[in-house]
Amino acid sequence: MTAPEQTAAPNFIRRIIEDDLRAGTHGGRVHTRFPPEPNGYLHIGHAKSICLNFGLAADFGGLCNLRFDDTNPETEDVEYVESIQNDVRWLGFDWQERLFFASDYFERLHDYAVELIRRGKAYVDSLNAEEIRTLRGSLTEPGKESPHRNRSVEENLDLFARMRAGEFPDGAHVLRARIDMAAPNVNLRDPVIYRIRRATHHRTGDKWCIYPMYDFTHGLSDAIEHITHSICTLEFEDHRPLYDWFLDNLTTPSRPRQYEFARLNLDYTVLSKRRLIALVEGGHVTGWDDPRMPTLAGIRRRGYTPEAIRDFCERIGVTKNDTCIDFAVLENSVREHLGHVAPRVMAVLDPVKVVIENYPAGQLEQLPAANHPQRPELGSRAVPFAREIFIEREDFMEDPPKGFHRLVPGREVRLRYAYFIKCIGVVKDPASGAITELRCAYDPATRGGDAPDGRKVKGTLHWVAAPAALDAEVRLYDRLFRVPDPDAAGGDWLGHLNPESAKVFTGCKLEPALRAAAAGSRYQFERLGYFCADAADSRPGAPVFNRTATLKDSWAKTGGR
Ligand code: ATP
Ligand code: MG
Repeated sequence: MTAPEQTAAPNFIRRIIEDDLRAGTHGGRVHTRFPPEPNGYLHIGHAKSICLNFGLAADFGGLCNLRFDDTNPETEDVEYVESIQNDVRWLGFDWQERLFFASDYFERLHDYAVELIRRGKAYVDSLNAEEIRTLRGSLTEPGKESPHRNRSVEENLDLFARMRAGEFPDGAHVLRARIDMAAPNVNLRDPVIYRIRRATHHRTGDKWCIYPMYDFTHGLSDAIEHITHSICTLEFEDHRPLYDWFLDNLTTPSRPRQYEFARLNLDYTVLSKRRLIALVEGGHVTGWDDPRMPTLAGIRRRGYTPEAIRDFCERIGVTKNDTCIDFAVLENSVREHLGHVAPRVMAVLDPVKVVIENYPAGQLEQLPAANHPQRPELGSRAVPFAREIFIEREDFMEDPPKGFHRLVPGREVRLRYAYFIKCIGVVKDPASGAITELRCAYDPATRGGDAPDGRKVKGTLHWVAAPAALDAEVRLYDRLFRVPDPDAAGGDWLGHLNPESAKVFTGCKLEPALRAAAAGSRYQFERLGYFCADAADSRPGAPVFNRTATLKDSWAKTGGR
């Protein structure tokens, strides 16, 4: 195994693995896992964990498993199991044949529980949940022992077998680890490791009516899979002594170690499954894959690329400091990748018609346009030009303020890839006064966008030829929330949703090259941003585009207004 290149962003887990490899810990192996619970869709925070676990394994010539932590049958579902696999694959990672489920280990976990009972390290408690909570004590007060704590091994084995056999109603008994009710760490105060729950599991059906708890399941699953570095987020730091206790008190096939890192927090959104479920179920978004959602399904539909997400996860680094990352950092990674790969095209979102009076009626001319200004290898295409074209309504002003360099009466501007035009008239609707048409003249000598006499213009506009234009719907998305931290902003977090987060433009005009745009394909619409053909709603001949990102970070200056 060779050490990977040093990267700029800090990653303390990388250093730990390097030390372990040097010292020969774990026999020189690196084996990680990504352990989602299938109770929701993955979000950008999970991407950090996926990139970390799969990335470290790849970098050190190791392996990474995908393991579903499916111990809560009531909240879990195959829909989530499938979406999670999709998302991990989309991000570019491969678990090969190592797809596992904690439920695959239910029989072994049960046997481990029996082993603990035999060793006098676990007992059946018949107190109810409320009583157990009360006796647990607090951070400042030690807990008190349950009256059932000193049941004999035989009695415990018998009761646990009958729990499994379904002799008792839900909640009648639990199995608890027998550790220390006075431990300063409350996680060690005889934690519950099995409960009776009559719920149909999405994989094991009704085979079990007892289910193991997360803390018991997780470390033992790691040990069963020969995981070396079990990487999780900081909220599990206080659970590590328990993780170690199970491994120290049982005979397991391997001895994994747990390391905790700071979870990703991102501003202007929420990254908790509970919150995301509330957004979906409350109809505040159109679904898990709404392009405004921070889910991988959402940002994929929005047009973000796996390359951009991986770059982002690399840049933010891995530390133990809880921080909130600026959404602009994510968008910058997206812009950088799309800036490199997305072909340029022209689209007009809010069209106003321009009639070029001195251009021959009925003529349609094909003008060459580069697909990427810095990458000639991406080729060029022909853009049709005609007597009638569309430009952006906001690119014309009759009475412009100082500094407005676009089209105004009497002024000349450049049409990108085409000609200089000058505005010679404005047609308005007599009733409303709204501009319905602009009359212009073009200079045939400026074909391609430069004047042979060297005269300059200040503005360059994008445009689409009317006879060849493709009608489209374009959706502009913005931050889901108006405030950086909806949970801390006071009042109901839902009250901070950004009412302007989705704006739909119908009747947009696209250049005809986009007729064949496949769902999910990404472009830069010149001067407007990066856009992606909507995977759900776009149809050949009736395209629907989502704005992935603006060309620049407009939030930095304006706070989104
Ligand atoms: P939530 O808190 O949103 O409900 P979770 O942590 O319960 O999510 P899991 O399915 O248990 O969701 O997460 C799978 C893995 O992803 C865990 O190892 C978890 O630590 C990690 N993870 C979850 N959220 C983040 C995050 N925001 N940043 C980094 N890693 C995360
Ligand atoms: Mg979790």
